[in-house]
Amino acid sequence: MHTPLCHHAVGEPTEYAAQAVKIGLREIGFSEHSPMPRDDFDDWRMLLGDLGEYIAKIDKARRDHPGLAIKMALEVDYLPGHEDWIRELAGRHSWDYLIGAVHYVSDSWDLDNPKKISQWKDRDPYEVWSAYFERLTMAAESGLFDIIAHADLCKKFCFYPTQDCLPLFTRFLKAAKQKGVAMELNTSGLRKDCKEIYPSPQIVRLAAREGVPITFASDAHAPGEVGMNFGEAVELARSAGYTHRCRFAQRRREEAKF
Ligand SMILES: [Zn+2]
Ligand SMILES: [Zn+2]
Repeated sequence: MHTPLCHHAVGEPTEYAAQAVKIGLREIGFSEHSPMPRDDFDDWRMLLGDLGEYIAKIDKARRDHPGLAIKMALEVDYLPGHEDWIRELAGRHSWDYLIGAVHYVSDSWDLDNPKKISQWKDRDPYEVWSAYFERLTMAAESGLFDIIAHADLCKKFCFYPTQDCLPLFTRFLKAAKQKGVAMELNTSGLRKDCKEIYPSPQIVRLAAREGVPITFASDAHAPGEVGMNFGEAVELARSAGYTHRCRFAQRRREEAKF
């Protein structure tokens, strides 16, 4: 979940926590879009100088809601060549988990950015999906992350390839399994044009067969989105054959029934 520090989410962490308590969640986690080495990289992430404030805001939420477990994490953009930076970020705090996310399929195109939707129109969706899953597989193989974010984010604006993407999905899932990386079931897709949880039922079924661990995420960018549509995510996981989900503390994974 996010905070106003990324400049496109609203509400303080303590308000997210209040909502979590209200709907009966026992544990939540904040994973703000992590800083880049240069603050002018784009305009939708936390600035490096705000890391201390981020931690303070989450600490306040913890003090205000002592009965709720609140994890401190980051959603880190994976771009090839950024590995050393990601290692540095990992060492800046004792994070509970790092979520590896691919938004950028090139150094300048974040494919889920509504301001850049016109970029899709000049491209073959299959080429974009291939580039996206290539980077997602690299993110899983990098060993830098505990969880991989929104595994088919490339469907957000409904530019679907006509080709069979099974080989792209399988390569990613095999890498995740081999490296022990979990995959999130992220309900924010239901709030986007694609109107579907990330990733699709096909990918969740393949992941279950492969034995890739899962987490549940609402990717809330506002207090009212905390835990949104979790019932559907649980149903999707169960129908694919999952019985366990994982949680993290200090970057150690623990699996439990759901
Ligand atoms: Zn965001
Ligand atoms: Zn993301």
